[in-house]
Amino acid sequence: MVKIKSLEEIELMRESAQIVSKTLGMLAKEIKPGVTTIHLDQLAESFIRDHRAEPGFLGLYDFPNTLCVSPNEQVVHGIPNDQPLLEGDILSVDCGVLKNGFYGDHAYTFEIGEVTEATKKLLEVTKKSLYIGMEAFSYGNRVGDIGHAIQTYIKSFDYGVVRELVGHGLGKSMHEPPEIPNYGKRGRGKKFINGMVIAIEPMINLDTKNIRHFSDGWTIKTADNLPSAHFEHNVALINGKPQLLSTFDYIYEALGIKSDEEIPFKSYL
Ligand code: MG
Ligand code: MG
Repeated sequence: MVKIKSLEEIELMRESAQIVSKTLGMLAKEIKPGVTTIHLDQLAESFIRDHRAEPGFLGLYDFPNTLCVSPNEQVVHGIPNDQPLLEGDILSVDCGVLKNGFYGDHAYTFEIGEVTEATKKLLEVTKKSLYIGMEAFSYGNRVGDIGHAIQTYIKSFDYGVVRELVGHGLGKSMHEPPEIPNYGKRGRGKKFINGMVIAIEPMINLDTKNIRHFSDGWTIKTADNLPSAHFEHNVALINGKPQLLSTFDYIYEALGIKSDEEIPFKSYL
């Protein structure tokens, strides 16, 4: 059952989404060559607790850490470790928080120093596909419209859309119905109605869409060991339009990036 949220509940969810957005903004300043992902994990946990929230992933389905950190060919669910990041790496950081009984869930793929043009393009296109998916989250549309929009855009670049992992409803549980795949057919699936809150999260591979599971039971990587990117926002449907609860603004502020990509999704409150 899809759980519809009241405007008051959506405001609480915005608070959770903002804390996780600020956490990634704080990490943006720390992510550089030589830094270990376990260090980032510790920083994130302290930051979240300082904001009187709880790490949302720690202990969820027995996940051992605050962050999922997935470098290069890792798609998602990587476990923090003591290996230093290297110049030219990319690092997908996925983070959850729980505050006032509601979850926030947000992800960004960072560049470590200078990355190749091909990798840069993968990140740019994956992030753009997130906003293209968000545009399809409007009154009267259905789940398949988001997936169809993302898949159609990604196809024009010949990248691989990961199918085994999907976006999801978000609320008092980290994963609520409906599932939001990054592929699909127009007009199919659950109809969107006001008060729905979802996490949209394209996971896009440079080449093959196929994935492999690590023996640690968590980490997922591309089958061809080529890079993969992941961006995730939390979005509420208000007055028939998608309204962003999370933001990349804190990351952009930390990295000195100028962007107006979120403006169309912030105008309905
Ligand atoms: Mg998610
Ligand atoms: Mg996530």
